[in-house]
Amino acid sequence: MAGNGRNQPILIAGGGIGGLAAAHALAQKGFPVRLFEQSGEFREVGAGIQLGPNIFRALEKLGLRDEVLADAWQPTGMEMRDALSGDLVHRIPLGEEFFAYFNGPYAVTHRHDIHATLLKACQNNNLISLETRRRVADYEDGGEGVTLRFEDGGTAEGGALVGCDGMWSRVREKIVGDGKPRVSGHIAYRAVLRREDVPTDLWRPDVVLWAGPRTHFVHYPLRRGELYNLVAVFHSDRYVEGWNEEADAETLWAHFKGQRPEVLRMLERIETWRMWVLCDREPVKEWSKGRVTLLGDAAHPMLQYLAQGACMATEDAVWLAEKAAAAPDDLPAAFRAYQEQRYLRTGRVQIMARVYGEFYHARGVAAELRNQMLGARTPKDAYEGVAWLYGGM
Ligand SMILES: Cc1cc2nc3c(=O)[nH]c(=O)nc-3n(C[C@H](O)[C@H](O)[C@H](O)COP(=O)(O)OP(=O)(O)OC[C@H]3O[C@@H](n4cnc5c(N)ncnc54)[C@H](O)[C@@H]3O)c2cc1C
Repeated sequence: MAGNGRNQPILIAGGGIGGLAAAHALAQKGFPVRLFEQSGEFREVGAGIQLGPNIFRALEKLGLRDEVLADAWQPTGMEMRDALSGDLVHRIPLGEEFFAYFNGPYAVTHRHDIHATLLKACQNNNLISLETRRRVADYEDGGEGVTLRFEDGGTAEGGALVGCDGMWSRVREKIVGDGKPRVSGHIAYRAVLRREDVPTDLWRPDVVLWAGPRTHFVHYPLRRGELYNLVAVFHSDRYVEGWNEEADAETLWAHFKGQRPEVLRMLERIETWRMWVLCDREPVKEWSKGRVTLLGDAAHPMLQYLAQGACMATEDAVWLAEKAAAAPDDLPAAFRAYQEQRYLRTGRVQIMARVYGEFYHARGVAAELRNQMLGARTPKDAYEGVAWLYGGM
């Protein structure tokens, strides 16, 4: 399976955070790349994203750390409050103490801003070609190269293919073949406010999570503090796959009824919510086959409770490029080495994200127990608890 690693382009399906990070990382190592995005333009949804110190280590390797940080907001802490009593359950300081422990910051940013930074880096690199309105339908791995087929009947040839086409990946269907994603029974409503539209007494510089029975509500500032991000999550039997659809506020009110006025007053500020039906998959060990591999949500879709999906996709990109550069003439071996490097770490995040979701949404005695356990923890205990995640890369 040897030959021509840098002569033929590496094809990438999907231009989200994962696809763009992969294109940039591979081009940095001298690989020509052709990236195909199904939409008419490269864009991210209008919502916030949390970035742990692990993504900043990855971004540093991509030369983009400072640019991403320039648009972001660095909260001073992350706190959990009980949505029924209002009591502070636990607070993790995210300032100097955190930075010193993890050798990196914790930040929150608008998805558009991190996506735009990656897009600009790709646009400025002449090893990368970016093509929109190119919906990947299928591929053929011929052993010496890969042929990609688009839905409009067109084709593209390359030395290898990286499927970065998200949760409902077409590329994954052929490699893993594990059907549709698992619908978790949890729904997220998201919205972004201008800072001036947030009541002054409710605006907080921190990431605040209100944990309620079968619900939670998170808010934090975005874009240097100019915006404010809101995410409300609740359990629902709704089974359809909804992604970024306009959402019905009445349903939200029914689930948050009886919660603290701070929660309800903030929810009231929103005129239009967008809705996501949250899904994940079981972790798998094999996501590379011959000259084709997967990255980001296509490889290891996870619930958002550890706020790590985009962080993991960016880490993937760095490791994929490292392994490809170490064996440019044997990309199938490089892809196996990349998967070997990544599957246990990403699998752990997939599994632990579910556990954190249970914790946030606990009811009755389980909620009391959560509050007691978390309340007894020192900041150092909290740092140690996430060292496997934030300390790794
Ligand atoms: C409510 C919520 C909150 C979250 N919060 C965080 C957080 O705080 N921190 C964090 O790190 N992560 C968070 N995540 C996870 C994060 O959003 C995802 O893990 C990340 O965006 C995945 O990036 P990706 O590039 O792998 O996939 P995607 O962002 O899904 O991008 C896939 C791209 O491929 C394109 N595409 C799809 N199919 C095709 C095709 N057939 N042909 C061509 N193009 C195609 C799509 O149009 C899209 O542009 C959150 C997710 C949710 C739902």
